[in-house]
Amino acid sequence: MTVDINWDELGFNYMDLPYRYIARWKDGAWDEGQLSTNNQLTISEGSPILHYGQGAFEGMKAYRTKDGQIQLFRPDRNAKRMQDSAEKLLMPSLSVERFVDAAKQVVAANNEYVPPYGTGATLYLRPTLIGVGDNIGVSPATEYIFTIFAMPVGPYFKGGMVPTRFIVADQFDRAAHFGTGQSKVGGNYAASLQAGKFAHENGYGDAIYLDPIEHRYIEEVGSANFFAITKDGKQLQTPQSPSILPSITKYSILDLARERLGMETIETQIDIHDLDQFAEAGACGTAAVITPIQSITYHSQEHLFGDGTTGPLTQRLYDELTGIQFGDVEAPEGWIVPVNVD
Ligand SMILES: *Cc1c(COP(=O)(O)O)cnc(C)c1O
Repeated sequence: MTVDINWDELGFNYMDLPYRYIARWKDGAWDEGQLSTNNQLTISEGSPILHYGQGAFEGMKAYRTKDGQIQLFRPDRNAKRMQDSAEKLLMPSLSVERFVDAAKQVVAANNEYVPPYGTGATLYLRPTLIGVGDNIGVSPATEYIFTIFAMPVGPYFKGGMVPTRFIVADQFDRAAHFGTGQSKVGGNYAASLQAGKFAHENGYGDAIYLDPIEHRYIEEVGSANFFAITKDGKQLQTPQSPSILPSITKYSILDLARERLGMETIETQIDIHDLDQFAEAGACGTAAVITPIQSITYHSQEHLFGDGTTGPLTQRLYDELTGIQFGDVEAPEGWIVPVNVD
């Protein structure tokens, strides 16, 4: 390692690394794409991404294993999800193969910035797809840019998971049922800023959204998916809704709960009035992996899960998943993609 970074003090901050990948789409086709040392994008002031939010992004990580190798976790899922987001916003997208190859190129080129094993830190990758070009009318762009940049990030929780309090923000909706809730697009995040501010100002980790029709069923926790475990420890439930972003972490946890912990998993409507049936709850996503939910405050009533500490099944799921991601636990077929550094 020749770079001068204090791996133990990394947060989640932008860093201008030596290389990023960039490809451009014009006249119906992608160019061959390349690594670039320039972190600035120059785009037309008429670009649809600027005015109408025609853009999508992804978030994924590269992990350093004990033997010094580097690996990606289910990058094909991120590629597929970006294709789905692109389709929703009438944008062209890269093939799964090209997306994964571009991610590998960025990781390999910035190899020295992949944090050492044992720090809990990782290299975060941010693929982005935006509509650009001289196009002020409300119509799909005629040109697109796809980029992947990277930055080393610290573990979300240093020194173990920290159970966190959340508050239901039912004066806000994140997304509509037939809108863009299932797509990883910037507009959903712009729409979430007020709810996040409300939660943070009141001393909570983030806001919980309820469904936009009845304001009754749990949707998401800030920008993470929700799951809960029943008091008998047998069932893991997660919300079913057309306006939730399909979290790759969530579907991985469902698989592990079923295949390795012998639990039953169901996607169903979870009524905010029925939290008493659960002993544990968590929020999950690439950034934090799992955030144990200590309590949920709804209309001034605070509902505590268990004794408010990290539950045993939440802990086991976290250990299994992070063990797989850092190469210490055998992965289900196809989940791990090695990155060759030459
Ligand atoms: C990205 C994201 C998640 C988490 O998805 P992962 O694939 O697990 O990282 C959850 N909710 C929202 C709104 C997101 O944008």
